[in-house]
Amino acid sequence: MCGIFGIFDHLEASNHAYLGLYALQHRGQESTGIVSSDGKQLHHYRQMGLVSEVFTKDLLKKLSGRNAIGHVRYSTTGSSELKNAQPFVADYANGMISIAHNGNLTNAVPIRNKLESQGAIFQSNMDTEVIVHLIARSKEKTFLDRTIHALRQVEGAYSLLFLTGKEMVAARDPMGFRPLVLGSLKDSPVVASETCAFDLIGARWIREIEPGEVLLINDAGIKSFKPFPHKQLRQCIFEFIYFARPDSFIFNHNVYEMRKTFGAQLSKESPAVADMTIPIPDSGFPAALGYAAQSNLPFELGMIRNHYIGRTFIEPDQRIRHFGVKIKLNPVRGLLNEKKIVIVDDSIVRATTSRKIVGMFRNVGAREVHVRISSPPITDPCFFGIDTPKKSELIASSHKVKEIQKFIHATSLNYLSLEGLKKCVRGEEKNFCYACFTGDYPYPFQTEI
Ligand code: 5GP
Ligand code: MG
Repeated sequence: MCGIFGIFDHLEASNHAYLGLYALQHRGQESTGIVSSDGKQLHHYRQMGLVSEVFTKDLLKKLSGRNAIGHVRYSTTGSSELKNAQPFVADYANGMISIAHNGNLTNAVPIRNKLESQGAIFQSNMDTEVIVHLIARSKEKTFLDRTIHALRQVEGAYSLLFLTGKEMVAARDPMGFRPLVLGSLKDSPVVASETCAFDLIGARWIREIEPGEVLLINDAGIKSFKPFPHKQLRQCIFEFIYFARPDSFIFNHNVYEMRKTFGAQLSKESPAVADMTIPIPDSGFPAALGYAAQSNLPFELGMIRNHYIGRTFIEPDQRIRHFGVKIKLNPVRGLLNEKKIVIVDDSIVRATTSRKIVGMFRNVGAREVHVRISSPPITDPCFFGIDTPKKSELIASSHKVKEIQKFIHATSLNYLSLEGLKKCVRGEEKNFCYACFTGDYPYPFQTEI
């Protein structure tokens, strides 16, 4: 998972890219980068770490020019290296290009193998780099046509931003897996993964960049192209469930409202006799509000989150104690003694966190802990850009709901049903991908092992 941001023709392009990425930090905390263009040359800086840790005033000053794109990358185990940080920059026959990618290409490995057998040398192990090679090898004349030619050859999920000396190109794959929105800051076009980036810089939302749409942004303005065959939409439902920020408006919906609807639907399907509803911070909040309102239960903040956990937290010696989730979450002791509670969270992945959370509530005296999850059980990994672990690590791939309930020591455990989830996007249910709950992938493909 990643977040991308771009701005064209603005006096403070790299400063705004910094702010845009700051607002998109939830989409990736492993590494970040900004590339700017001054009309001739590209300037770039990429580093491991958070946006606020990586960039300084001086660095941003060096990223000069009126155009910039930026990227935040999600932490995936094993590939946490600087060479995989984005935006990716390359020099080819027609000049410098830069690319920032959110998503995951499902045919990158066969393309890469073919290119390597023909002598191509790759600098990273990112799927994104194949796009750069395909652009460089294209026989088309303009950068736009080369890009379209390259994108015709790749499959999978991509929301993309390209920057050359004089142009910015934005593209979204025909199935629209990942969000991408267009806005403007006064007269300067801006593009971002989510609208929360626009809010921070005071930009106006214009519209979604449509699935299958390619936008060419240059001194002549914005031109829209639809060069790909039409496909059934497969927007990622997990963006609504967990990934996007609740204050964003993506896929033409308000994420917060959508999460509340999931919670209300969950309450209709799986009510509980209890004294209160408690959200698990922060991702469980909107769904818990919807659940509490629908079931007429008091809403209590029974679990408090410490917001100041940096990535630099030093786990004390095992002899002192292993903190685990405790360092981040702590239940409100006085509120819970002898109480029957419903706790609402957005998803269970491995169930290790959920198990600890239930244990913490029991430790402070909760008598019954009913767990409600505002998504169906996650049974299958995502190959379209969400960093879910492999199938064997997903508890719901090998355990029934009752077994998971036992594992986490919950009094009861219920997930939102797939039908219920679809009801919440009624009229558009065909336009979403539910593969992480069904294993029913949008099209057949070979995965790299
Ligand atoms: P578990 O009980 O499976 O160990 O953890 C569940 C928690 O992980 C939920 O609170 C959910 O919000 C969170 N979660 C779900 N998906 C992801 C993800 O892709 N990355 C991270 N860091 N947390 C996730
Ligand atoms: Mg969570």
